[in-house]
Amino acid sequence: MFDVCVVGSANLDLVATTPRLPSPGETVSGTAYAEHAGGKGLNQAVAAARAGASCAFIAAVGDDEAGTRLSAILVGDGIDASGVQTVEGVPTGRAVITVDASAENTIVVIPGANALMARSPVPLARVVLAQLEIPIDVVIDAFTQARAAGAVTVLNPAPAADVPDELLALCTVVIPNEHEREQLGGGKRLFALGVERVITTLGAAGVDVATAAGSHPVDAFAVEPVDTTGAGDAFCGSFATALAAGAAPSAAIRFAAAAGALATTGRGAVPSLPRRAAIDALLCP
Ligand code: ADP
Repeated sequence: MFDVCVVGSANLDLVATTPRLPSPGETVSGTAYAEHAGGKGLNQAVAAARAGASCAFIAAVGDDEAGTRLSAILVGDGIDASGVQTVEGVPTGRAVITVDASAENTIVVIPGANALMARSPVPLARVVLAQLEIPIDVVIDAFTQARAAGAVTVLNPAPAADVPDELLALCTVVIPNEHEREQLGGGKRLFALGVERVITTLGAAGVDVATAAGSHPVDAFAVEPVDTTGAGDAFCGSFATALAAGAAPSAAIRFAAAAGALATTGRGAVPSLPRRAAIDALLCP
């Protein structure tokens, strides 16, 4: 039995740094280029594993070199990648990112294999965590299996999308940001469908925790942020890890807030996802 199973996207991010973003039709000379593993699913699986979970990842990559590289990265972080599907004849998902000197960016996402991910068996896990960068029927199927096996289901409804009642009714916990919560129609709809807890992430302002009985804020940890990319993914992955370890929701939220804060203190998503020792040190200095 795994602690956490993440069902989600895997991308290779191609990042070009340039003094200024090109206008349509224009070519500019860049100053740096880097390739990183990305995708909300992969980021959250790495976050869970680094926070201390035994973690399985269900995803889809293309039959290309990028897919092989992403699988190697997962294995390097101790993640069970045996559920990563290879889709023939399509590329692994890519995010083509241009960043200028003032950190303004443009991003083109090519879903590739992520969009063609098929339903597949979900291994036994205490917590099953998913996002919305893969086909919604795959998420519904995964959560149906998870619920039948007695797992807790956590949905990070990102990117913002219209989510059918059928999926929300399968969620134990939903972790949106403010915009995503609005897109879902607010907490009332979720509680009416049986969701137990809605944790809205608010960046440096922390989170709002709501149940059908009411809501309360939880402050963020004070850190010096360098780059907030990956904070939400760190929060979701580490929250799932703490829940799987038997923590009460309030303790799991503090643990996740510490991981989210630490993720802002380094650049990029995967490189800044914190390990267990760093999270514990922020919780109990
Ligand atoms: P997303 O990346 O999905 O928009 P947030 O930016 O809200 O998510 O970050 C998720 C969580 O990470 C926040 O709720 C908070 O607990 C923590 N966090 C994010 N930014 C900061 C920050 N600047 N300082 C401290 N904690 C932060």
